[in-house]
Amino acid sequence: MGKEEEVFNRLVEKGVSRRDFMKFSTLMAATLGLAPAMVPEIAKAVAAKPRTPVIWLHMAECTGCSEAFLRSTYPWADDIILDVLSVEYHETIMAAAGQQAEENLHTAMATYKGKYILVVEGAIPTKNEGRYGMVGGKTMLQIVKEVAADAAAVVCIGTCSAFGGVQAAKPNPTEAKSVSEVLGKPTLNISGCPPNPVNFVATVVHFLLLGKLPDLDDKGRPLFAYGQSIHDNCPRRAHYEDGNFVKVFGDEGTMKGWCLFEVGCKGPNTFNNCSLVQFNDGISWPIGAGHPCIGCSEPNFWDDQAPFYVAK
Ligand code: SF4
Repeated sequence: MGKEEEVFNRLVEKGVSRRDFMKFSTLMAATLGLAPAMVPEIAKAVAAKPRTPVIWLHMAECTGCSEAFLRSTYPWADDIILDVLSVEYHETIMAAAGQQAEENLHTAMATYKGKYILVVEGAIPTKNEGRYGMVGGKTMLQIVKEVAADAAAVVCIGTCSAFGGVQAAKPNPTEAKSVSEVLGKPTLNISGCPPNPVNFVATVVHFLLLGKLPDLDDKGRPLFAYGQSIHDNCPRRAHYEDGNFVKVFGDEGTMKGWCLFEVGCKGPNTFNNCSLVQFNDGISWPIGAGHPCIGCSEPNFWDDQAPFYVAK
């Protein structure tokens, strides 16, 4: 049995049909900005490549990024990607605990030295040599440096690991920093609070399809997802141009779906593809639901974006 057939059979056992798989491949092509003709190539790359080992670290965070990914309402996206990746260490989903978990981490690092992708969720406390964040007797600062040293790539999922996020907001008592700051080198950043899981998955698919990471913006974010502002693709943009603004939540403008700029929308200065990919199986997204964008995928979220309900 060929590798592709093996993968399909495993997915069928999980309730993922070939139709779902092609739907997944089509979503990936659209997210990556690839022509529909690439859909069969994506399906082939995802099904045929050896599983990529991943070590996923939880640092100072709320686990919302993992929750967003694992509870993706595309019922098949997580099944597919967990079949394509070999997640060797992930504190939320692994059965091991304590010493056994530590052993799993070190075994994975040794077995896949230089080949694994390190995914980091959460910022890194650095005050007093990092002692405000400890796992298994080591500081998060030590752990992330140790695991990153032998990784093929470091991917930050969520604004906390990418830019410091809420953990680094004033007064930042633990002196939390981004992963790139503590490693002293750039990381690939899938920012957002939480990030759209589709953008993480599309980054992995890009790697499988083309054998390299996607092009990045000057903040380390994939251009396919963060190349345009929320404002650029907002369905309320015509109201912005026409001067039709919601003045107070619940007013006539709210009922008519007018622009949220005057009640605090940060869409003009926020780069992400939320309006295009949307959340919950493409059902909605914050502005679609009547809530202003709070700029969660930008550096210095939250200090630079607050107050969320007043225009700046
Ligand atoms: S709601 Fe926000 S993103 Fe949309 S047009 Fe208004 S200011 Fe721009």
